[in-house]
This record gives sequence, structure tokens and C-alpha cells, in this order.
Amino acid sequence: METYVSIEDQLEIEEGNNPDGVIEYGEPGAGAIEYASQIVGDLSKSPESIQVITQLLNGELHDTDDKQVKRCDYCRYFWRDDSLRNNKRTCCEECKRKVKTLQKRKQRERRELLNPTSKKRKKKDDYVYWLEYPYWINEESMFDEGERFEKPMKTEVLDYIHTKNQKYGVGNRKRRTSERDYGF
Ligand SMILES: [Zn+2]
Repeated sequence: METYVSIEDQLEIEEGNNPDGVIEYGEPGAGAIEYASQIVGDLSKSPESIQVITQLLNGELHDTDDKQVKRCDYCRYFWRDDSLRNNKRTCCEECKRKVKTLQKRKQRERRELLNPTSKKRKKKDDYVYWLEYPYWINEESMFDEGERFEKPMKTEVLDYIHTKNQKYGVGNRKRRTSERDYGF
């Protein structure tokens, strides 16, 4: 009895048998598809197509002396560079763009590693705290930052607190004014 195996599965199985076949293919680009269809042609609907495609992917189908046949830097499929100078590295514009995006990301990550994104300058960065007598570089920053810890108060409020403190001592607890009589 025959069991149905999809083209994708068959390709995976056959690639799995190839110890060197650890190429990670992407979505095939336009150039790769065109090249494949040139080689596989009408075979694509016949049962042999799987074998042909596998051979194609393994680079067994093309003339290895043909230096214009190469793997796309992005999708990793074979394609043929028909340009005069034969210096393209991707099979199509889309693959080229995707490679660039990847490269940019890598560059960014490397830059990040050496020089982590400078955090936005904050007001507290104006405080030279590491000296024995810390000071503020910028007065405005000093007031703004200070407000976060010490809210400015109106003189009436300050007066009130001052009087309270004199009466009861610092803090919220009322000071005992006399020893309690326990009645002994
Ligand atoms: Zn490609």
C-alpha cells in the first residue's frame, strides 16, 4: 500500500539523509524559481520531479564549471546570475533587500554590544554624586529632581508643621506630656 507523502515531506526526508544537507532554505526567490523551472521544466508534474529537485538542490544538476550558477545569499537556492559582471549574490531584488535587512540588524546588534544604546539623558545625570561633596551641574535639574523627594511647601504649611513639631516633637506621635497615673 502506498502512503501519500507531500512534496515538502519528501524533500525533507531526502535532505535528512544527506549529512551535509544542513542548508536552511528560505522562501525561494524569483531568480531561484526561474532557474529551477528552467531545469526541471515539465517534469514538475511527474513523479521524478522530487528526485530532480533534490538533485538540483544538492547542486548535482548543473555544470559546476558554470560559475554563474550559485546559491542565493538569502533563500539559499541555486540560481543563475546572468549579469555581465556575475557579481550578484542574491537571486532577486527581494532576496537582496532581505539580506540587507539581516545585515543591518546584525550590525545594529554588534554596535549595541560595544556601545549599549545611550539612555536618554535624565535630569539626575546632572548630579555629580560620586564625589565626596556631590553637586549639581545644572540648577534647573537640581530643583526639578529635588522636588521629586521634597515637595516645595507654602510658608503656612511650613509654619504649621514647625509649630506642631515644637508642641509634640518631630513626627506624628503625640509626646506624652505627663507620666500616667496607674493608681498604685
Ligand atoms: Zn533568493
